[in-house]
Order: sequence, then structure tokens, then C-alpha cells
Amino acid sequence: MAKTSNHDHDHICLLCGRTSKEAPKGITAGSLYLCEDCLVRGCNILGYEVMSEEEAMSLRAEKSQFLGAGDFNLDPPAELKKFMDEYVVGQDRVKKILSVAIYNHYKRLRYLDKHKSEKSSSKLELEKSNVLLIGPTGSGKTLLARTIAKKLNVPFAIADATTLTEAGYVGDDVENILLRLIQAADYDLAKAQIGIIFIDEIDKIAKRSENVSITRDVSGEGVQQALLKILEGTVANVPPKGGRKHPMEEYIKLDTTNILFICSGAFVGLDQIIQRRIGQRVLGFGKKQDFLSSPDANSSNSAILDLAEPEDLLKFGLIPEFIGRLPVIGSLRPLSKQDLIHILTEPKNSIVRQYQELFKMDDAKLVIQDEALEEIAAIAEKKGTGARGLKAIFERIMLDYMYDLPNMSGKTFTLTKEMVLDKQEPDYEKK
Ligand code: ADP
Repeated sequence: MAKTSNHDHDHICLLCGRTSKEAPKGITAGSLYLCEDCLVRGCNILGYEVMSEEEAMSLRAEKSQFLGAGDFNLDPPAELKKFMDEYVVGQDRVKKILSVAIYNHYKRLRYLDKHKSEKSSSKLELEKSNVLLIGPTGSGKTLLARTIAKKLNVPFAIADATTLTEAGYVGDDVENILLRLIQAADYDLAKAQIGIIFIDEIDKIAKRSENVSITRDVSGEGVQQALLKILEGTVANVPPKGGRKHPMEEYIKLDTTNILFICSGAFVGLDQIIQRRIGQRVLGFGKKQDFLSSPDANSSNSAILDLAEPEDLLKFGLIPEFIGRLPVIGSLRPLSKQDLIHILTEPKNSIVRQYQELFKMDDAKLVIQDEALEEIAAIAEKKGTGARGLKAIFERIMLDYMYDLPNMSGKTFTLTKEMVLDKQEPDYEKK
């Protein structure tokens, strides 16, 4: 069978007589060879249009683009939210925002898949809506994105924006993010092309004078520019082994047009930017009672993040084109002590449930007193890292009891508040 080839040993072109060393691109069939120039000339004579390498590449990507598009579970927003409720405590508003955004995104893929044979001029242009999640650390941003990917059954990859650099600086090229998604899809490119990429710490690449670093571009703007391309959709060259791109390397071509990007960050200080805008605007209109004095705003200062607008993000240091690629914005609330207690016990795979299962495996039973749960939540709350520390705290408290677990067959173990206090960190005692 004929194939495109770059040859090690010499072939002679049937038409022009040049060797494959002199004209290295062409097709072979057994010992026969036609060089690229003669092929193009032949096509021109016969009236066929010859595509450039770039055109061929994007056609290939377009063809493979929808191969797996039917391969995801698409449920209406209410179903998506219900699923998120099983794993993620609270954050009701952002769950709604996310479920609508996700539903629209994948509905759009179905639409494009259904109309793929139609001419692009007759198709309605449905733009992709990537998502920006704003909220404190440990409030469930990553968990939400991961949960949604699980529900849809699409590949999911997490990246950290702080490791990314503009080409030429020390660090990861942005294409490495795509490699993670390809790996999550087991190198099935069609599947990867409809996956979800979660980019954390996006606020750290804001243009700010204090972000000074000698190894990274000082402003963060270069990284935003580099990310912009993959966020809006491009056929990217992904180095198969990761790391820096190498000129001699063969790249994996991945079309990012239909990949959903969920960017996230704590955006410390954004609330003040919004407050200033709202305060000023209200003052400008000469009203006495501004947003900040409304009972709604007083009840939770974090609610102000719900009012984030592109101009606030611009002031924070994101560039306009980048903001434009993140049209859906959702904000998460800091978790209360009550939320932390719920997280310990309620989600389908909550820490307490997991431990109870471990006890069951040794024919024992684990009971945790409410006061003990409250105490654990209080320790986590003081740490100020949301639900992030819960597991570590719980594991530390349980260590000695787990050590003895195999000897507890047939017994019930009750974790009390005193036991929690006894095992708590010394610095907490001091506080
Ligand atoms: P973030 O991305 O906001 O910093 P994560 O989603 O990574 O936080 O949360 C860290 C861990 O804390 C998660 O693995 C999860 O176990 C727990 N967690 C955080 N928020 C919630 C929540 N709202 N509901 C249930 N678990 C949560």
C-alpha cells in the first residue's frame, strides 16, 4: 500500500528521477516512489486541489473531532446539580451556574456533531463558554469540576497555572496541560478533545507588580497570552513526553476547540475591587443606601463575589482577551463549621463513611459523637484551609485506633470529644 514517507534508503522518483535523499517527501508503493513535487504537479494537471500541511492537519483534527462526541452522558441541569449535591456540600448557586454551563457546552457538541456534514455557513455559530470559579481554598472548586467530569464520563485533567510559563522561561509549556488530558483519555484523541481541563491558581498569573520572579515572566501576562490560544480553540502541538518542546520531536496534534476549561482561583482582594466599584457607582448616582449597607450584603461579605464582572477581573490583572474567554463566572462561599461537619458525614464518599466501612471490614463498628464531629470541624476551621485539612485531622486522630482495629472484631468503637481534644495538635491547645 502507498504511504507517505521520509526515507532512510534511496528510492528513485518515477517521474523526475531524483532520489529520495534529494526529494525526501513523497509516497512509496513497494520499490516505487513519487516525490512530493511530481505528485503536486500531477494533481495540478488533473485539476485536484492540493492542501497545505496546515490545511490537512486541521482537516484531520476536524475529522477526528467528533468521533467520540456521542460518548458522554448528557443530563439536564437539574440532574447534573443533583449529582453534584451527592458529593459536594453547599455552594448551591455555583452548582446551578456550573450545571447550566456544562449542559450548554455539551449540548453544543451534540449540535455540532449532528450538523457536521452541513456547510459551516448554514450552521449556527455556538460559542464555547469556559468557566471561571472564584472562591477560597478548600471550598470545593476542584471537587465540583471533578464531579461533573465523572458524571459526564469525559476525561479530566488538573493543572496548576503557577507552574506554567511563557515559552522561553523555565517551567512547563502550556501544551503540557493538554498532555495530561490526553493521558487521562488513554491517548484516545477524540475523547480528549471533548474533555474537561481544570486550571487552578489562575489568579496567580494576573498582571501584578508584586508577582516578581526571575524564572517566570514577571507580569504573568505572557502566560495568559499563551493560555488564551488553547482556551479559545486551536490545533495545538503537544510534546508526547511533556516538558519543553523540542524542534526535532513529533507532536501530537490536539484540537482544543471543544475542550471545556474551568479556571479557578481564590482571587484575594477581588472583593475589595468589587466593593469599590459598587460603592463608587452608587455614590455616583447620589443614592444614600448603597449595596454594602443592604442587609443582603451584610449577611455575608463573600456574597459580593457573586457580583464580579469583567471590569473587576481586569483591575485584578487579567487581560481583556483572557477574561473574554471565561464568560461564565461562579463564586464559592467559605465553608462554615456546619458545612465542615456535613462534609465529614454526608457526601456519598464522606470521610466518616469511608472509616465506617473500614471498621466493618474488621467486623467492628465506628460511632462518632456529634460533639466529636464539632470539635474536628472547629480544628479545621481554625486552620483556615476550608475542608482541605479535614481528612488529615481525622486520620491523625484515628491513627492509634486504626492500629488496634484488627483486635476489635465484634466491638463498637465510639469516638468522643475528649478523644479528639486529646489528639489535637499542640499549637491548637495553645491557641
Ligand atoms: P479548592 O479547589 O476549592 O481549593 P478542593 O475542591 O480541592 O478545594 O477541596 C479539597 C478537599 O476538601 C476535597 O477533596 C474534598 O474532600 C473537600 N471539600 C472541599 N469543599 C467541599 C465541599 N463543598 N463539599 C464536600 N467536600 C469538600
